[in-house]
Amino acid sequence: MEAGFWNKEIETLSENELRALQLRRLQEVVRRVYEKVPHYRKKFDEAGVKPDDIKTLEDVRKLPFTTKEDLFVDYPYGLLAVPKEEVVRVHTSSGTTGKPKAIFFTKNDLELGAELIARCLVMTGTTKGDVLQNSMTYGLFTGAFVMHYGAEKVGVLIVPAGPGNTERQIELMKTFGTTCIHMTPSYALYVGSVIRDKGMIPERDLKLKRAYLGAEPYSEETRKKVEELLGVDVYNCYGLSEMGGPGVGFECKYKDGLHIWEDAYLVEIVNPETGEPVEEGEIGELVLTSLTREAMPLIRYRTRDLTYVIPERCSCGRTHRRINRILGRSDDMFIVKGVNIFPQQIEAVLMGIKGVAQNYQIVLQSYDEFIVRVEIDREFFDGRIERILKLKEEITEKIREAVLVRPKVELLEPGTLPVSEGKAKRVIDKRTL
Ligand code: ADP
Ligand code: ZN
Repeated sequence: MEAGFWNKEIETLSENELRALQLRRLQEVVRRVYEKVPHYRKKFDEAGVKPDDIKTLEDVRKLPFTTKEDLFVDYPYGLLAVPKEEVVRVHTSSGTTGKPKAIFFTKNDLELGAELIARCLVMTGTTKGDVLQNSMTYGLFTGAFVMHYGAEKVGVLIVPAGPGNTERQIELMKTFGTTCIHMTPSYALYVGSVIRDKGMIPERDLKLKRAYLGAEPYSEETRKKVEELLGVDVYNCYGLSEMGGPGVGFECKYKDGLHIWEDAYLVEIVNPETGEPVEEGEIGELVLTSLTREAMPLIRYRTRDLTYVIPERCSCGRTHRRINRILGRSDDMFIVKGVNIFPQQIEAVLMGIKGVAQNYQIVLQSYDEFIVRVEIDREFFDGRIERILKLKEEITEKIREAVLVRPKVELLEPGTLPVSEGKAKRVIDKRTL
């Protein structure tokens, strides 16, 4: 292993080699699902496309998309491409958006997931000798397990803490000299605030160096806030159960976009309405094909996550292309007064305002009105009403500038809103309750 790389050969394959490898794997996986998965065969036949029609990478566009709905056909085993006896693990999605999807793994799939995470960790500087506190949920959710096996492969000491019990999290950090943490950004904000409330100075009292934050969208402002609160480098970590969990996209030391491991995933960005490819660098929906998964490969899977491809080569030397941080999931978008708004736009504004604490909630009151409930620093509750009114006006105005609709803002004391240990539920939609 060369310093800074887990698998330098694959991570720095030349552009031509990488595309040739992708094409070989694409042809193989398309043939495999056509032969083994009746649902795919039916879909391909209906679209009038045969495995032999895939002669170039662009030919992938001849294939029909796979959507979340396809995962519920003959649920749960309908999309298996191997005999059930070969399957050794099931995970489900967290079910943020409905019935949980069931995703299966063979032994090789588990090994592949670990290999990809190993590349991710090493690329950010984590090596044998590091101590990783894994505060994602161990269980049906992929987040904790996939990270766990990848870290183990690198030789990292893992503290399988799971989420929650913040006092205990901090104790574990102290006791074992935790250097890296893995959790959601919303929980990291909370843990950071508890550490600061205790009067601890992380740089002095803890050994933290890096935080791997993912499972939900967050802004650059949130990254900065967590970095300040915890004295760490924050690396964005993207994945989805359907593609095997975390480690699909991951930031390197440059923290400028997430590398997608293109030997394992074929990336397309399409216009979410038309399904047509967008120009390189243009925003659209991320569509992924798993090139190496055995149990349940997915072809042209519509992630509903919005992003764009960063065309430039990264300074780290890796040839695998990067995507921008996820701008939002199309499921999360809401409309007020006819304007499309993503929760993340509001988060970015809030986390950039001095005086705003770490927790907030968006309440959709009607189609014309939304409320932003936001916790602010305790020092504002000292009876000086002008200061608080000024902050309220600043928040209202900055959100209006960002999303073009004026919100109703409610300021709250820290600790008022529910703390999320896993994925945060930021939007309460009263219009559909
Ligand atoms: P779900 O939340 O759909 O039930 P998962 O638990 O598999 O299922 O979560 C995957 C989704 O979480 C992704 O499609 C994406 O919307 C979101 N996600 C995961 N990691 C990130 C990240 N680093 N940034 C933004 N969004 C993320
Ligand atoms: Zn890089």
